[in-house]
Amino acid sequence: MENIKAVGFDLFNTLITMEPLALKDALTRLTGSLKENGFAIDHGQFVKAHSEAVLDFLEQTKRDGRESHNRFWISSALAKLGHDVSPDDPHISDAVDLYFSAFIQHATIIPGTKEMLATLRDRYRIGLLSNFTHPPAARNLITQLELEPFFEVVLISGDLGYRKPHQSVFRELIQQLGVEKDHIAFVGDDPDADIAGALRSGLKPIWTTYVRDNNISPAPGMLGPTDDDPGPAVLRISNWQDLLTLLNAD
Ligand SMILES: [Mg+2]
Repeated sequence: MENIKAVGFDLFNTLITMEPLALKDALTRLTGSLKENGFAIDHGQFVKAHSEAVLDFLEQTKRDGRESHNRFWISSALAKLGHDVSPDDPHISDAVDLYFSAFIQHATIIPGTKEMLATLRDRYRIGLLSNFTHPPAARNLITQLELEPFFEVVLISGDLGYRKPHQSVFRELIQQLGVEKDHIAFVGDDPDADIAGALRSGLKPIWTTYVRDNNISPAPGMLGPTDDDPGPAVLRISNWQDLLTLLNAD
């Protein structure tokens, strides 16, 4: 690739992944927290109501690109089970914190990622743009995994109000990197959020299939459908050596 001055990265299933049990553990912690705070709920019923709330959110975000927050899904699930509680109730924030504590425990870095970032950092400005509803948990994850020092820009959709592929979040990335959009490569695993989004915003997308090609277990519910292929015109990498070669950094 010619004339690249900055590289943006997606986070989940691009740089890090999660053990398969993470989501199950997170939901157990979530209902445990609610029960401890006095909500008489059945775990199975709550999980079903919660996943319905998540599906509603996914439909809404497909329409307008807006980010949501877990507290709305939890209060909506509780409402379905007959508990009237505000999304801003402190018991709900406790439940959100406990839910994400599982993410931190089960997250792992994809092999070679820090070495790759260290190499690129000498030649490019490096940014992170993640779709994540609860920014404190995302930032905590990045800090705990010691990824923070590699990025000059860290953007989380929960802070921006919109999610990838919405153009406003890519505009923010371009502005904060301080580089013309056609000099920015964007690396991500999701054909829609990352690849179509970056393309529409004038960045140069690079589709990473590192996780699926190397049989690394993906973060649950976070891997795009495998038949969703951005097509042969989009550059594709299967490991970090591919990326370093593409960026003339090997
Ligand atoms: Mg991803």
